[in-house]
Amino acid sequence: MIPAAPLPLQPETALAPTPATLPPAPHWQRLWREAVRDPRELLAGLGLDAAAAGISDAAAASFPLRVPRGFIKRMRPGDLNDPLLRQVLPVGLEERVVPGFGLDAVGDGAAKKAEGVIQKYRGRALLVATGSCAVHCRYCFRRHFPYAEETAARDAWSAAVKAIAADPTIDEVILSGGDPLSLATPKLAELTARLAGIAHLKRLRIHSRLPVVLPERVDGELLQWLSALPWPVAFVIHANHANEFDAQVDAAMARLRGAGVQLLNQAVLLRGVNDSVEALAGLSERSFAAGVLPYYLHQLDRVEGVAHFEVPDDEALSLHAALVARLSGYLVPKLVREVQGDTGKRPL
Ligand code: SF4
Repeated sequence: MIPAAPLPLQPETALAPTPATLPPAPHWQRLWREAVRDPRELLAGLGLDAAAAGISDAAAASFPLRVPRGFIKRMRPGDLNDPLLRQVLPVGLEERVVPGFGLDAVGDGAAKKAEGVIQKYRGRALLVATGSCAVHCRYCFRRHFPYAEETAARDAWSAAVKAIAADPTIDEVILSGGDPLSLATPKLAELTARLAGIAHLKRLRIHSRLPVVLPERVDGELLQWLSALPWPVAFVIHANHANEFDAQVDAAMARLRGAGVQLLNQAVLLRGVNDSVEALAGLSERSFAAGVLPYYLHQLDRVEGVAHFEVPDDEALSLHAALVARLSGYLVPKLVREVQGDTGKRPL
């Protein structure tokens, strides 16, 4: 690893944690390695019968199961319809060929600006930092993305930094993936030290599911890095159901807020996971209780293997209208879809 260059410090907030309360840095990497990768082991641990679960070895071979043990502990034993289990279990329905579902639903390929850099919208460049994730979500819109050729970390960030530096209209960099927090913190610091030399950057955004699925990732080293960044940071987590939050996730969110970042949640509307007013309202209320504002509720991106998760637009709209009627405005996420060629996320 290349050591991080020193960066200017932002003021500490009252919520800033003390190093003594934080897990040591390598802890999350050990938990990462201990993730469950065998669908039968996952089901057995929940007291479920593999034959009845409709699991598919072919689906698991094309997009392997991966789920941290701490996330499994939040699933309900004996419940095949558990909303967390449904997000990670490879099933035969993924093998169906459904018209309209392709390999690149959101036009990532057409929007490539440089190796590992995607630009779809004015002012923002998305950096595909890595292809790795702590959890493999079955509905993932990048499950077919060619990560082997297209990650910005591959050449020590050179092409990405050069492309962003050459375009003064870009004022926000989005760290995405895969999950950017899959990378060790010194690797992230190496990137941000290089980006810090680009005067036209004003904001950093981080998209990560790790604080939810592996909250131990939010360790002292990560917080130190975040606190020292020279830009305001929007940190967009990804949770689809209230049951994804527990005391450890709450504590991770408090640590992140202590590092001075703005926490937002984006969710995907998923059949069998959160396709009810109760589930969506519960998600908004639970995420706000953890200090996270609801941001986006995405309509599913239509990639191969995910059709069984789709909720039709008319149903999505009526669910959203019911949320508006039930919740305070700040608890209602924007219902959007990503459409290739649009200048921003399209409201439904
Ligand atoms: S964490 Fe995000 S990028 Fe990774 S599999 Fe899940 S949805 Fe896809």
